[in-house]
Order: sequence, then C-alpha cells, then structure tokens
Amino acid sequence: MKLNPIIPQRKKLQDQLWDIVQPNSTHQIDLELENQEYIYYNECCYNLPIEAYTTPSLHLLCQLVKERLHVTENVIFQVDNREFITGSSSVSGNNKYPSVVSLSAGAINTLNEKELSFLIGHELGHVISRDGLVRFFFSKLPPQVKVPENIYHAMHVLDLLAELEADRYGYLACNSDMDAFVSFMWQMSGGIDIHKFGVSTSTYLKANLSHVQKFLNGGWLGKRHPANALRIEAIRLFATSKTNYVLREQMEPIIDSIFECDDQF
Ligand SMILES: [Zn+2]
Repeated sequence: MKLNPIIPQRKKLQDQLWDIVQPNSTHQIDLELENQEYIYYNECCYNLPIEAYTTPSLHLLCQLVKERLHVTENVIFQVDNREFITGSSSVSGNNKYPSVVSLSAGAINTLNEKELSFLIGHELGHVISRDGLVRFFFSKLPPQVKVPENIYHAMHVLDLLAELEADRYGYLACNSDMDAFVSFMWQMSGGIDIHKFGVSTSTYLKANLSHVQKFLNGGWLGKRHPANALRIEAIRLFATSKTNYVLREQMEPIIDSIFECDDQF
C-alpha cells in the first residue's frame, strides 16, 4: 500500500493558522507579490542556476526528482556556496514567480546521487506543502494586529512538523532507499558515512531506537528541525507501517512531543 506523505496534524494546523492570518491581512495581494519579489531578487541574483548547459547531470537529477514527486509548477534549482551539507527552499505563493530550491555546494560535492535525490525531494516537499508562507504572512501583519503568544508556538510546531513531512517526500524521491536516507542524515550531521564503518542500516535503525525515547521529552526543542533520532525513526515508521492508520498511531508519540514543546524558534 502506498502511504500518504501528508501528516494530517501539520495540514490541520496550517489551515487553522491561515484562517487566523488571512482575515487580518489587509493587503494580502500586495504582501504576496512582495513575498515573491523578495524570493526572486534575493535568492536568484548571486547563486549558480542548475541548468542543462551548466550542470547537465545535476539538472537532470533535479528534473527526475520533480517528476517522481509529480511537481508540475515552475521551480528554479540553484547551487549556493555554503560548504556544509544543506538545502533550502523559498515557496511561491502565486503564479507570477517560481519557487526556488537551493542546494549547497557542500551537498553537491559530498553526496551520491541517491542521497542528493533525498535532499532535492525534501526541499521539493516544502514546495509541495507550501511551507514558510504562513510565517511570512504573520511577519507582515500590520502592527495594530495583536498576535496572541500561542500563535508563535503554533508556528514553531508547524515548522517542525513540516520538516518531518518534507523528509517523507525526500524518502520517496530516493526511491524509498533507507540506506540513502540514513547515510544522508549521518553525513549531514556528522560528516561521515556510517556504511564506511561496516554498520548496516538495520543495525543502526535498531540502535537509534534507544535514543528516540530520550528525545521524546522535548530536550531538543527550540531548534529549527526535530532531533535527528526522531527524524530517522519517523521515516522508519513511514517505511514500515502497513496502513495510514497504523502510521498515524505509531507517529503519535513523536507528534505529541512536538506539540508539547514549550519553546519557540
Ligand atoms: Zn527542511
């Protein structure tokens, strides 16, 4: 059975926040255009576009992943000069400007094709889920609109859930290759490939379970991403659950720990 990558709690929270921000956004269309111009001019001026004539194999891989995830909208892919392994995305709120996905030079220089597919898929996942737009609109509300304190907490929760959902798209993008996902996570966080030490993915996934429990108390909160142990366990559950119902049940402790965070980013 093909599992749905959408995390229902993320979608519900995003819809609830839109319902709050939209009636308060007095110049919504202007703001949207401003957002798109910001993305276009700040993201695309100084980075290297990934195009067929400059980086053909990388361009092909980006297009392949885009197709694999059924993304039909216009997306600009580019390389930025960050040396560490990372990516980022700026999501378009209208049809006037494209969304932008950036991959760091560190990622492109280090990762193999499958690991890169995960990263490209993760960033495209943010595009698919329209992540970041709610936060942008809240940041542009007129000063007279008083935003309750718990809205900032909700936006933090939304950001964290969005990372778990983007990981699911990344996993699908690398053809559900758990080895690629685990080695991506290791290389991103520690700079090493776990398989070089003769540790199998299944052994590592078992060992990771012993770390999951200690992160369920929220000690990692306040960060932009959930703890790596939780991200890895969340994908293990996505990969092994037989039905969407089982997946949702199994994910509950992780989702609850995110909702219970008492910090904000
Ligand atoms: Zn992300």
